[in-house]
Amino acid sequence: MNHQRDSLQDEPGVRVKAHPGLCLGYGNCHRFAPDVYELDDEGMIDVHLLEVPSSLALQAWIGATVCPERAITVIGPAEEHWRQRQRAESAATNTPNEKRDPSL
Ligand code: SF4
Repeated sequence: MNHQRDSLQDEPGVRVKAHPGLCLGYGNCHRFAPDVYELDDEGMIDVHLLEVPSSLALQAWIGATVCPERAITVIGPAEEHWRQRQRAESAATNTPNEKRDPSL
């Protein structure tokens, strides 16, 4: 039986809920996750509810974790899940950089 893993692209991502009333404009979320978190002209988070694809789920978690005001909630599989998925994807796509000489 073939137990091939689904690729990260096939997995549903996470949902992000931001709480602008808690935001004090440190900008960490955008600095660490620029593809997920937009800031307005005054540097405050400009997001309320977002559907984030699996390819950006780890970035969404990192951006939420670095918010000192805890103004961002991520709903979905935990950060460690996405780290493991990313490691598995990297391992699957990495080719060995050492080729053996077939005559040895
Ligand atoms: S890190 Fe938090 S406090 Fe800073 S801009 Fe982002 S949401 Fe606002």
